[in-house]
Amino acid sequence: MSEVAAGLRTGLLELEQRFLMRNYSRQAVEFVRGEGVTLFDSEGNAYLDFLAGIGVCNTGHCHPQVVEAIREQAGRLIHTSNLFHIEQQARLAQRLADGFEPGARAFFCNSGAEANEAAIKLARKRRRRGEIVMLEGAFHGRTLGALSATPQESKQEAFAPMVEGFVAVPRSDVAALEAAVSERTAAVLLEPIQGETGVWPISEPMLEAARGLCDRTGALLVFDEVQCGMGRTGVLWASAQTSTVRPDVITAAKALASGLPIGAVIAGGEAADVFEPGDHGSTFGGGPLVCAAALATLDVLDDEQLLSRVRVLGDRLRVGLEAMAAAGRLIDVRGRGLIIGADLPDPRAAEVVTDALAQGIVLNATGPATLRFLPPLVIDEADVDRVLDFLGTAL
Ligand code: PLP
Repeated sequence: MSEVAAGLRTGLLELEQRFLMRNYSRQAVEFVRGEGVTLFDSEGNAYLDFLAGIGVCNTGHCHPQVVEAIREQAGRLIHTSNLFHIEQQARLAQRLADGFEPGARAFFCNSGAEANEAAIKLARKRRRRGEIVMLEGAFHGRTLGALSATPQESKQEAFAPMVEGFVAVPRSDVAALEAAVSERTAAVLLEPIQGETGVWPISEPMLEAARGLCDRTGALLVFDEVQCGMGRTGVLWASAQTSTVRPDVITAAKALASGLPIGAVIAGGEAADVFEPGDHGSTFGGGPLVCAAALATLDVLDDEQLLSRVRVLGDRLRVGLEAMAAAGRLIDVRGRGLIIGADLPDPRAAEVVTDALAQGIVLNATGPATLRFLPPLVIDEADVDRVLDFLGTAL
């Protein structure tokens, strides 16, 4: 990080270095304002955002409908706790449950990790001490249960021992999945498209095998749609795009309230009725402010016109990247809608991200040779073309 970088206010770096724990490495820029697909730094420079706060700002920055809902609710009531009834929470649950299946119910918390924790607890309570089967390359969060479901040595090692009863299988190995799932299994937990490890859509045969095994053994199929849900693939939930495979439980977070902290577990069938009073909870979860923001977010995103644009623009981006792959400048392109990963032939992804920032484009690398594209869903053709032009030169 360099202090002379554009957009970093004098003194901010010292303040952070003196008082913040050192768990993040940051790009040398401070964004102070956002509008649609554009972020502005503290010197007034504009950036095209192709990361959306890591898949959070799907409605674009400060969408007027979301801002208005937050403003209106903040002026009326911010917090009471779950000791009392909360209309916005019930309406949000209705909206999510109705979109899932008849009889479904929702639970609200504050993040993706917490949503997965809740889903793991729900599955374990239902099955009494059962195991959780997950896929290699998964990322389900940083709290200890969610981390135990995140089979990555680099993330787990310092915090051992992990919670017991978690079993990982390779992401496309149907036989290994069959061997791992048994009557002891409480849940198979997977992201329909793995996001953090470089955008890896899980194959149909793997999803079908997971569904079949859960049906046969009585385990729950839990889809973590924290990153790939909320319109990101051009439908509200990525799992709705798969052939016939439907999960018993969906976990959501990130984009659900356009940037206010929220997590949700949506469960159907008997999974909807597993939790009883006292089993689980959250002081802040499902508060009126965040639920008002989530309802406004759904008003914007649950719109076939916008979702079809996501598919069109995602195709445009992917076709452009695939042309670069055909020319040998990329070696693989993966993803659906506006969650796309691309592998470079060399470990230069961090350099490309830094170059992009210098040219006013916010990009992201998930690994030394992998770029990830997660723009707000309100981008247009010119935004896609600008990023493709940049990559055409940078690569
Ligand atoms: N699950 C998935 C698929 C994610 O991508 C993430 C975060 O990147 C999480 C869970 C954890 O979410 P949070 O950071 O809100 O705890």
